[in-house]
Amino acid sequence: MMLDYRTLLISLGVSTLCLLVTLFATWLARRGDGFLLTWVLGLAFLVAAIFCYSYYTEFPSAAALAASFSPMLVGFAIIYAAAFQFRTDRSPVRHVAVAGLVSLPLTLVPIIVGYDGIGFIMLNLCCAVMLFGTAIEYARGCREAPGALLGMSLLYALTGFSFAVCAVVIAADGRWVMGSAPENWAETFNTSMSIAGMTGIGAMSLMVHQARITARHRREAITDALTGLYNRRALFELHARDLFTDDMAVIVFDIDRFKAVNDQYGHAVGDEVIRCLAEDLKDASGLSTTARLGGEEFAAVLRTAAPGYAEWLAERIRRNFAERELSAGDARFRVTVSAGIAYGFSEGRDFDGILNAADAALYEAKRNGRNRVQRAADHPRQGSRTSA
Ligand code: GH3
Ligand code: MG
Ligand code: MG
Repeated sequence: MMLDYRTLLISLGVSTLCLLVTLFATWLARRGDGFLLTWVLGLAFLVAAIFCYSYYTEFPSAAALAASFSPMLVGFAIIYAAAFQFRTDRSPVRHVAVAGLVSLPLTLVPIIVGYDGIGFIMLNLCCAVMLFGTAIEYARGCREAPGALLGMSLLYALTGFSFAVCAVVIAADGRWVMGSAPENWAETFNTSMSIAGMTGIGAMSLMVHQARITARHRREAITDALTGLYNRRALFELHARDLFTDDMAVIVFDIDRFKAVNDQYGHAVGDEVIRCLAEDLKDASGLSTTARLGGEEFAAVLRTAAPGYAEWLAERIRRNFAERELSAGDARFRVTVSAGIAYGFSEGRDFDGILNAADAALYEAKRNGRNRVQRAADHPRQGSRTSA
């Protein structure tokens, strides 16, 4: 019976080690996911704990017990903190510290004073609580890959439950001083559940990782690298099938005489100017989509625009940008921007139509001397130039 249990423990150690190696390799492939490294560290503590505990089952002593329980608690504290880090992208340090500082004394003090039975109960309870906490973190962060993350959460909860059962069985026995490892069905269930959990969680963590990579590629495909705004493709994907009613508008912006900026100050400064305008557009409220069409041209979609609102907003953006002092080395200079605006029709207008109209208005603004906002002339609420 003892041999069986030790074999089980060694299997657990090996499957934990396999998960550790898998996760570490996954982290190496892309250093961005810090939570993977935290998780690997937690697993390393667990591997150490499992082999120490396996030693303890053969040569029991309070020292060996403490030597196996300490890394086990620290390991689960780190795994819990890694789940928090996964969900929030925040530092896991505080969670490790709190979980560790609570669980270590609760478990170690009874062992040191000779009540190892109570130590076993506390260890199992603390592990159960930290595993439930981990389950909750993954469940809360499940939007990213619901199937895999809820599956992981369930496995953590079941493993936590198997620890809780161990605590109950030992407490029911009432042996506060034990002197050796408990042997009962709950321990076997706990170790088997841990092996199953470790294996299942490993597989699902790879699915989560895959989902993250897919999401990142999707994000990159629709993002303009220079400004972080949507790119042209995303703008069309988002709006190609929309019908623009007369309370919706499109504004296109084009920086004035931008070639001269590039020629005079260099391409890098030109890029900085593009980024500047992009930041202004990001900060402007009321724009539901803002995209870089290419070069120094931007488009913004307004889903709700009271009459004249698009003009007011574009005018404000134009003025702010014109007043901004830019620098290149010692040189100070200003750059202006022109804008063209088109509204939808009450009966609806397709995206190509409204974008072309805004473009035509922009061309008018350029022709009329630049640094101005122009509304398209082909609309019932027709108006001409709104600023000079
Ligand atoms: P206009 O007032 O008529 O708009 O004059 P313009 O000089 O701005 O003319 P146009 O819009 O045709 O010029 C666009 C220039 O922008 C041409 C190209 O060299 C430059 N450009 C395009 N993409 C980039 C970019 O990503 N970075 C930089 N620095 N320049 C770019
Ligand atoms: Mg230009
Ligand atoms: Mg241009």
